Amino acid sequence: MTSEVTFAALGLAEPLLRALDAANYENPTPIQHKAIPALLEGRDMMGLAQTGTGKTAAFALPILQRLSAKRHGAGAKGTRALILAPTRELAIQIDESFRTYGAHLNFRIAVVFGGVSQVPQVKALSDGVDILVATPGRLLDLQQQRKVRLDKVEVLVLDEADRMLDMGFSRDVLKIVDETPLERQSLLFSATMPKAIKKLGEEILLNPVHIEVTPEVVTVDKIEQHVYHVPASVKRSLLIHLLSDPAMSRVIVFTRTKHGANRVSDHLDRAGIPSAAIHGNKSQNARQKALEDFRSGSTRILVATDIAARGIDVDDISHVINFEMPVEAESYVHRIGRTARAGRSGVAYSFCDPNERDELKAIERLTKKPLTVATPIQGLEADQRHGHGERGPRHPHQGKPSGKPNGQPRGERSRRPGGGGRNNQRRAA
Ligand code: AMP
Repeated sequence: MTSEVTFAALGLAEPLLRALDAANYENPTPIQHKAIPALLEGRDMMGLAQTGTGKTAAFALPILQRLSAKRHGAGAKGTRALILAPTRELAIQIDESFRTYGAHLNFRIAVVFGGVSQVPQVKALSDGVDILVATPGRLLDLQQQRKVRLDKVEVLVLDEADRMLDMGFSRDVLKIVDETPLERQSLLFSATMPKAIKKLGEEILLNPVHIEVTPEVVTVDKIEQHVYHVPASVKRSLLIHLLSDPAMSRVIVFTRTKHGANRVSDHLDRAGIPSAAIHGNKSQNARQKALEDFRSGSTRILVATDIAARGIDVDDISHVINFEMPVEAESYVHRIGRTARAGRSGVAYSFCDPNERDELKAIERLTKKPLTVATPIQGLEADQRHGHGERGPRHPHQGKPSGKPNGQPRGERSRRPGGGGRNNQRRAA
C-alpha cells in the first residue's frame, strides 16, 4: 500500500528521485515513509517487516544518500556499506535494487554468495567497493582469506535476520559484526521477532528507532482467496483445469516438499504446460535460470516450496496456488503475499483435501477471514496414484521461525568476551 506522501518530502536527493521515477515508484510504501527520515538522520533501526513491503528501498535509499554526501573510497578490499542477507536470491535482489536506485550515483556495488566460484567476487572486491551485499558464510570465508576488509563499514544492515539465524548463521553474523567499526549506523530487519532477534538487536544496535509494518492484514485484504475442497487424487486435474485460463499469466504453485514440486512440475510438463520447479536441491544456476525465465515471462508457472520461494521478488504474479496447504498458517500469508505486491491485487487458490482441514482452520484463525469456498468443478479426473499424492511426510518444524536458532548453542553469548554485546561496548566507547 502506498501513501500520498512523496519521496521528495521524505528528504531524498534529486538523483534518487529520478531513479525512483524511472522505476515508476509514485509514492513511498508505509515502511519507506517510516524508515527513510529516521535513517537519513543516521539513526539505528530495528524493523519488523517482511520482504514485499518495500523494505529494500526503505534502507537502500538512505544508504545511497548517506554515501553520496561524502564521497571517498573504502580502500582496497574495503566497503562503506555492508548488507547481510540469508540467501543468494535475496542478496541478488538487494544488489539489483541498489543498482536501480543508485543508477545516477556511480557507486561501486558488489554481491557475494556461496555455491559459486569466488574468483570473480574477489576481483570485484579488490579495489574496494561502496556497497557490498553478501551472504554470511561466503563473506566470512573471504574475510578470513583477507580478500575483503570490513574496517571501513559505515552502515551495516542485517536483512531477514530471523531467517539468517534459522539457517544457522548466528555465529558467522556475530563474527562479521565484530569486524566492523563500533562507529557505524546499524539496521536490523526481521519478519518475526523471536527472543534471539531481540537479543541480537540489543547487541548490535545503539538506541534504535523501532518500526513495524504488518503487511499481512493489509496484503491479505487485497487478495481474493478461494479454497477448493477436493480429494488429493483430483488436485492435479484441478490444477491443469485452472491453468488453462489465460488470465493465469504468472503463477506460483506451492507444494510442501521438494519432491512434490518436482512431481507437479513433471506432471504439468507431460500435460503440455511448461513450468519450472525451484527448490533447495537445485543447483544455484538452475534456480537462477528458473527465476530469470519466470521473471522475464518465458516461463508462466513456477512450482516452489516455501523455503525456496521466500524472498523471491517477482512483480505481477497474477495467481498463487496452494497445491498443498502449508503446515504453518504463517506460511500461507507468505505464500499468497507473493501476489498483490506493493499494493496490487491478486488471487490465491488453495486446494484443501479432507486431511488438510485443520491447516485451513488455522489459516482462517490467523487471517481472521474465511476463504471463499469455490464451486466444485465437475468431471475432474482422479489420478491413479490416489493416496500417494504430492504430499510428503509432515515436517512440523519446517519453515517455522524458531526462537532458538540452529547453530547457536545456548549460552554462546555468555562466552563472548565481557559477556556483553557490541551495544554495551559501544555504550562504553
Ligand atoms: P521489497 O519488500 O523490498 O522486496 O519490495 C517489494 C516490491 O515492491 C519490489 O518489487 C519493489 O520493486 C516494489 N516497490 C518497493 N517500493 C515501491 C514503491 N514505493 N512503489 C512501487 N513499488 C515499490
